[in-house]
Amino acid sequence: MKIKRVSKIDSVLKEIPTPCYVLEEELLRENLKLLKYVKDKSGAKILLALKGYAFYESFPMIREYLDGCCSSGLHESILAKEEFGKEIHTYSPVFKDDEIDEIIELSNHITFNSFSQYQRYKDKTKGKVSVGIRVNPQLSFSTVAHYNPCAMNSRLGVTIVEFKPELLEGVEGLHFHALCEENAGALEAVLGSFEEKFGKYIPQMKWVNFGGGHHITRDDYDVEKLIKIIKDFKDRYDNIEVYLEPGEAIGWQSGVLIATVVDIVHNGIDIALLDTSAEAHMPDTIIMPYRVEVRDAGKEGEKRYTIKLGGNSCLAGDFMGNYSFDRKLKIGDKIIFEDQMHYTFVKNTTFNGVRLPSLGILRENGEYETIKSFDYNDYKRRI
Ligand SMILES: *Cc1c(COP(=O)(O)O)cnc(C)c1O
Repeated sequence: MKIKRVSKIDSVLKEIPTPCYVLEEELLRENLKLLKYVKDKSGAKILLALKGYAFYESFPMIREYLDGCCSSGLHESILAKEEFGKEIHTYSPVFKDDEIDEIIELSNHITFNSFSQYQRYKDKTKGKVSVGIRVNPQLSFSTVAHYNPCAMNSRLGVTIVEFKPELLEGVEGLHFHALCEENAGALEAVLGSFEEKFGKYIPQMKWVNFGGGHHITRDDYDVEKLIKIIKDFKDRYDNIEVYLEPGEAIGWQSGVLIATVVDIVHNGIDIALLDTSAEAHMPDTIIMPYRVEVRDAGKEGEKRYTIKLGGNSCLAGDFMGNYSFDRKLKIGDKIIFEDQMHYTFVKNTTFNGVRLPSLGILRENGEYETIKSFDYNDYKRRI
């Protein structure tokens, strides 16, 4: 099963105020169909990780295909309850006394990051929520330490030497999360390490959660291999419930960030100043870092006209990079940044007081709708 992606943004570009993130419903549905195929073929349940994608205007569509949400704490669990429904699975590196009761009330599953957190809240969970422990499989292929939950001295998950089988009473699940934008081969290896260390505790569990980071909707992802890995695992452990909780794979290539060229200056190279910011609106381009794709643009020097694209904050490093176009850019031109639905608006800041981009949807019927726009009050309320 392959995804066909055809963006239709061009047909409504003139109507869209900038800066604006635009989700294309048709593209989102393509992702969801593939995820549903994985569910149907493998028997796993798939949750939406709200951390990576939380544009809740689209939840009614996602709900048709997926089983619920993976939440990172109280606020995401409330959002899941209000806007998604279905199952809510909450994991947080730490839960606090003043939030735990509400989280337990909202959640179907709660995963603790340590046995000390479980001991602290064990009595509250009894009969109310299915409890899991996050373990650290101590194998990850993430090359960036910032994105490696198994890096040295990681605080995420219990290692096998710290694992306390005598405290497992009441625990129904094990959870690991060690992938980041990875293919099924990486899962196979991490799962192997997980089973080698924690396999003997699996038969007493009701579920195992394979975490997120499965890049299922990427073109080169080996979907059939994933299905086989899950089926084999379920066969080994008496049809145990398996959960996946991808975030990025849901929003992958399903929408864009559209900006306008506001000014063009020259300093050794032409530089376009846009009404958006890499720092505030595409933070992973700086943190990860990665080079964002721009529609109809090539690398520096590849096409006739090269220009540097820059943001509207005062940070010197707030630029997207050098890009080339077939023709000279001019003030008022629109720039389309590709694949900006995941880890963007969920991480935005109002740094420098720059305006947050609006959120819009290109509906399946071809109509464009602005869902939300932001103003001064969004900036002021946060400080
Ligand atoms: C970040 C995270 C996810 C989602 O990861 P993606 O890379 O967006 O698929 C799932 N589970 C946990 C515990 C996470 O921390």
